[in-house]
Amino acid sequence: MQQDITIIGGGFAGVEAAWAAAERGSKVTLYEMRPNHATPVHKTGDLAELVCSNSFKSTLFTNASGVLKEEMRRLGSLILPIAEKHAVPAGEALAVDREPFAREVTERLLAHPNITILREEVTQLPTTRPLIIATGPLTSDALANEIAKLTGGESLAFYDAVAPTVTYESLDLNKVFRASRRGKGRQAPPPEEGQSCAGTPEPSADYLNCPFEKDEYLAFWKAITEAELAPLHDFEQEDSGAKMVFFEMCVPVEELARRGQRTLAYGAMKPIGLTDPRTERRPYAVVQLRQENREGTLWGLVGFQTRMKWGEQRRILRMIPGLENAEFVRYGVMHRNTYVNAPRLLDYTCQLREHSGVFFAGQMTGVEGYLESAAIGIVAGWNAHRQTVGLPPAILPRETVLGSLCAYLVETEPKHFAPMNSNWGIVPELTGATIRDKRERGRLKGERAISALDRYLTSIELAQVTL
Ligand SMILES: Cc1cc2nc3c(=O)[nH]c(=O)nc-3n(C[C@H](O)[C@H](O)[C@H](O)COP(=O)(O)OP(=O)(O)OC[C@H]3O[C@@H](n4cnc5c(N)ncnc54)[C@H](O)[C@@H]3O)c2cc1C
Repeated sequence: MQQDITIIGGGFAGVEAAWAAAERGSKVTLYEMRPNHATPVHKTGDLAELVCSNSFKSTLFTNASGVLKEEMRRLGSLILPIAEKHAVPAGEALAVDREPFAREVTERLLAHPNITILREEVTQLPTTRPLIIATGPLTSDALANEIAKLTGGESLAFYDAVAPTVTYESLDLNKVFRASRRGKGRQAPPPEEGQSCAGTPEPSADYLNCPFEKDEYLAFWKAITEAELAPLHDFEQEDSGAKMVFFEMCVPVEELARRGQRTLAYGAMKPIGLTDPRTERRPYAVVQLRQENREGTLWGLVGFQTRMKWGEQRRILRMIPGLENAEFVRYGVMHRNTYVNAPRLLDYTCQLREHSGVFFAGQMTGVEGYLESAAIGIVAGWNAHRQTVGLPPAILPRETVLGSLCAYLVETEPKHFAPMNSNWGIVPELTGATIRDKRERGRLKGERAISALDRYLTSIELAQVTL
């Protein structure tokens, strides 16, 4: 017999999961603790409340978040048509009038015959299956403890302390060299003069190193010490846990820089064991980049957790030799967040590999942003429904932005897992001739994504008919 689906959390992921399952015929019970139990940032009792900016990012089809929107539309998204109805002028972005938007999302769910909404805090994990946990970055404490018990405490994070990530193709390989400290790993020869850095890197030593001369280091150090920082929210300042993570376990780079002119050069930027093949000597300091995805298109700045404002990160980190034209797919952040170590725990449908029928959705899975959280909600709700009716899991093609986000969650090295948003760096490169124009490359990837999605949807519909 078909089971009801239980969803905890009525944010972006929870509403999309509920809609995806209910529209396909499942009965859904959705728990939302607001307005009876507040979070530190939500202000209303409405579902899908935007807690900060009112933007769902770019609508351009050359941009990964524009294509993600098109994919969500094809998968039957609830929030996108409502967002478009309540859009306010925002150039190339989709921004909304937040209150009418959230009110309409709430009304649509309340009116759905397959959805029941219960306004309660869930403090113990229900035993019913399928269960979707979509309680977001500010999951209540009691439930977080329960989730930690289920997943193993070390697989649940309460804070983000994330270093920025850049694309490989935006690096200047005439300055950056590959090497691991003391020759561990293989050391690649320097590229030919003028060699392009487009495409994906050849595997060799594990790190890319950006070498500094002394004067470059001193200018960089000074800029960091003077950088403007993003403010902490009150609840983050008051929280002793936040202080512990920020200031003991994972000290932001600006805090280290303020401790002394040489602190970074002896710490995150130490050049020990590294020889620049161009000068054949040890640089004064280095910033190391570590590969972040299997394809080697994304690289993270090692040890550069930071609370600098995003504009400041763009300005100052481009002072790093080799990063002058860096494209940042993610900036460093240090803030309150609750998310599981997806690569350790989840499969491609966001279901726990060790607990069949328990799905995660939204920011809890380690995606970042309203749009991405909503999109993962569709994946979880759709798959929970398929499980109840005995259909095989729906795993989206890798060419799609959403399929690539799911793959990022599963395939990243668990030790270095950090939350991710939608961007072209996580989507496989085009095959064939190298396209130098970024927008054109984005457009072609977008077209490839949508046709892969259409083919996939047709194939599973046909499979269902013949089951
Ligand atoms: C301070 C702050 C600012 C942010 N600013 C932005 C921004 O500008 N742009 C952006 O894209 N993203 C921003 N984010 C991230 C944003 O929160 C997520 O992108 C998005 O809201 C995640 O969707 P979600 O459905 O996973 O979680 P949420 O939207 O947070 O929804 C989770 C829901 O679960 C409910 N809940 C929690 N615990 C329980 C429980 N035990 N029982 C029942 N219900 C429960 C909560 O009340 C909430 O309604 C911000 C996050 C924070 C914390």
